[in-house]
Amino acid sequence: REGSRSLTFTAKPQRRRAVFTHSDRIYWPDEGVTKEGLADYYTEVWRFIAPFIVGRPLALLRCPDGITGPQFFQKHAWKKVYSHLVLVNDPKEKSEPLLALHDLDGLLELVQSAVLEIHPWQSTLTDWERPDRIIMDLDPGEGVPWEMVIAAAEEMRDRLQEVGLAAFVKTSGGKGLHVVSPLKPLATWPMVKTFTKTLADAMAADNPDRFISTSTKSKRQGKIFIDYLRNQRGMTAVAAYSTRARPGASVSVPLDWKELSPNIGPAYFTVENTPIRLAALTGDPWAEFQAAAVALEEPRSTRRRHG
Ligand code: ATP
Ligand code: MN
Ligand code: MN
Repeated sequence: REGSRSLTFTAKPQRRRAVFTHSDRIYWPDEGVTKEGLADYYTEVWRFIAPFIVGRPLALLRCPDGITGPQFFQKHAWKKVYSHLVLVNDPKEKSEPLLALHDLDGLLELVQSAVLEIHPWQSTLTDWERPDRIIMDLDPGEGVPWEMVIAAAEEMRDRLQEVGLAAFVKTSGGKGLHVVSPLKPLATWPMVKTFTKTLADAMAADNPDRFISTSTKSKRQGKIFIDYLRNQRGMTAVAAYSTRARPGASVSVPLDWKELSPNIGPAYFTVENTPIRLAALTGDPWAEFQAAAVALEEPRSTRRRHG
């Protein structure tokens, strides 16, 4: 036992030295959040973020000089050798390898590489072709009041529940809300994309003054774009508990539906107050996320034959 303890003790400082060069580099100048501060944040929320980022291809927003400098949205590995990150090859695309992580060390290696946003695929390395969640990204256009975004999320929840799916909500850390449904990984990408497009189109058709399901930017004024396009092979969305490379050091945070209110805006939670929230929480609002996964059913019209 002594032996393994001393092993741990010698290994740890070495790893920290390797991971945190320039640990006082400032990533969010206004908030004074440094590389070390970001590493502390991810260490504290690791248990919560892990289910959403481990074992998936990742797209990563890198900001070597912090949020005020150049930003690179990187879908592929940018080095050949990593200590803890894993290079993975898309089984269908002959391209540069993608990156994945399996543990906190991998996440801390991202911090070292100035990754300020983590955007996973909606499918895992276990089954690249069958997504295990849907994300409906609600993007308010100019002049849309927050109450209208909340109402949109609730309507989205009701529509998802109507077809037998569970629905969870998170702030984006930016301007909107994300409604997320866990899936059993059975349906393939084309089916999932069609399902989400049908859902977005139906919502827009029923309330064309409030919603739009086409991505034309000029038509979004005063409306909410129901961005279903995250639900395609190779497309990504920001992970729950990922930080955002935006002023305020905001974070995308899972909420209980009852928490949606004018008091909690899309960028309310930050690197600073998210760990405090998690420490104070009596229950994780997304605790049932994995357990609530169901198979995406075929559209009702094609199921009638079963009576
Ligand atoms: P907001 O609430 O402000 O809309 P968001 O994370 O939902 O925040 P969107 O602009 O709606 O932001 O979504 C953009 C999505 O597109 C991201 O989630 C990301 O995964 C993906 N994406 C694709 N290319 C890029 C890029 N070059 N830079 C940033 N994101 C990109
Ligand atoms: Mn969005
Ligand atoms: Mn969007």
